[in-house]
Amino acid sequence: MTDAAPKNLIGLSRDELVAEMATFGAQPFRARQLWHWIYHRGAIDFAAMTTLAKDFRAELAERYVLARPDVSRAQVSNDGTRKWLLRFADNQEAECVHIPEDDRGTLCVSSQVGCTLTCKFCHTGTQKLVRNLEPGEIVGQVMAARDALGEWPSPKDDRQLTNIVMMGMGEPLYNYDNVFKAVKIMMDGEGLSVSKRKITLSTAGVVPMIERCGAELGVNLAVSLHAVSNEKRDVLVPINKKYPIEQLLDACRSYPGVSNARRITFEYVMLKDVNDSPEEAHELVRLLDGIHAKINLIPFNAWPGAPYECSSNNAIQRFGDIVNAAGYASPVRRPRGRDILAACGQLKSESVKLRRSERDKLEAPV
Ligand code: SAH
Repeated sequence: MTDAAPKNLIGLSRDELVAEMATFGAQPFRARQLWHWIYHRGAIDFAAMTTLAKDFRAELAERYVLARPDVSRAQVSNDGTRKWLLRFADNQEAECVHIPEDDRGTLCVSSQVGCTLTCKFCHTGTQKLVRNLEPGEIVGQVMAARDALGEWPSPKDDRQLTNIVMMGMGEPLYNYDNVFKAVKIMMDGEGLSVSKRKITLSTAGVVPMIERCGAELGVNLAVSLHAVSNEKRDVLVPINKKYPIEQLLDACRSYPGVSNARRITFEYVMLKDVNDSPEEAHELVRLLDGIHAKINLIPFNAWPGAPYECSSNNAIQRFGDIVNAAGYASPVRRPRGRDILAACGQLKSESVKLRRSERDKLEAPV
C-alpha cells in the first residue's frame, strides 16, 4: 500500500473509466452508472450515489475522489458576468468566466496556465506558460461553474450555461490531446451534454491541428486573425511567422461542416491606427472570399502598460460597415465584465498583480 492521494475520476474518458473500474473487478455497467452520477447529476460524494450498491460506494470512496478545482476567488461584474479564479491541486491557477445573455449563457474556459504565444495586445501573452491543463482540470471548470450556478442535474432546457468557448487563457491547439479529451466529455449526451454546435474552439492559428480538430471534434472554429498582412500579423500574432495567413485560410476553407448556417468566426481586435483602416477592411473581405465566415470585431481591452489603444467607435463602425456591405455579419463584441478584468485578453492579470503585491508585502523590510 502507498499513501498516494486518492485518484480523481473527473477527466477520465468513458473507456478509461471502464478500465479503472476493471482494476478492482467492477463491471462496465458500473462505469456507466458512475458516469451518470458524475457528469449528469454532478455528484461530489460517492455516498450520494443511491443507485449504486452500498459496498461498491464504500469501495469507490476509499480509492477515488471527484475533485473540481477550488474556487479561490469569485467575482460578479455589474453586468452579471462572473469570473472564477480556480486553483488546481498544485496551486496553479487559471480563470473561467460566465457571460449571461438574454438567449444564452456562455462559459469561457482556459486550456493552459499562461500562454506561449506572446500576442502583443494580449495580457495573458505577457505571462509565461506555466503548464498545460489536464483534461480533468479543463472539464472541471465546467463542473465548477455548474456547481456555482446550481445547474445539476444537467438541465435539458432553460440552462444558464448553454455554450462553451475555449477562449480563456492559453492556446487550446497547443494542448490538443487534453482539450480533445475534455471536450469529448463535455459533449457526452449522458453527461454534461453540451452539443458540439454550442462549443467553439478559438485558435491563433496552429494550422496542422485545425484539420484534426475539425475531423475529430467537429466543434465550431474561431480564428484570431487580427491583421490582414503577414507583415503586421507577424508582429501582433507571432505564430503567424510559422503559419502565415494563406496557410491559415486554406485550413479554414477545408474545415469540415462549415456552411452558411455554421460559419467560421474570425476574431479581429480593433487597435487604433494599427489595423483599423478602411483599406484593411476591404483587404479582409478579399481574403475571406469563399469562406463561410462571420467577423467578430473586438474592441481592444486595455490593460496596465498595454502598447495599444482601442480604435474609436467611428473607426470600428466604418470597418464593420465595409465588411458588412460585402455580405459578412460583423458584430462588435460588447466587452463584458471589464470592471472585474474578465474581458478578452485580461484574464489572470489581476491575480498575478495581486500575488506580486502580496509577495512585495512579504518581502518588504519591517
Ligand atoms: N489562444 C486562443 C485563445 C484565446 S481567445 C486564440 O488566440 O484564439 C481570446 C481572444 O481574445 C482572442 O481572439 C484574442 O486574440 C483576443 N484578445 C486577447 N487580448 C485581447 C485584448 N486585450 N482585447 C481584446 N481582445 C483580446
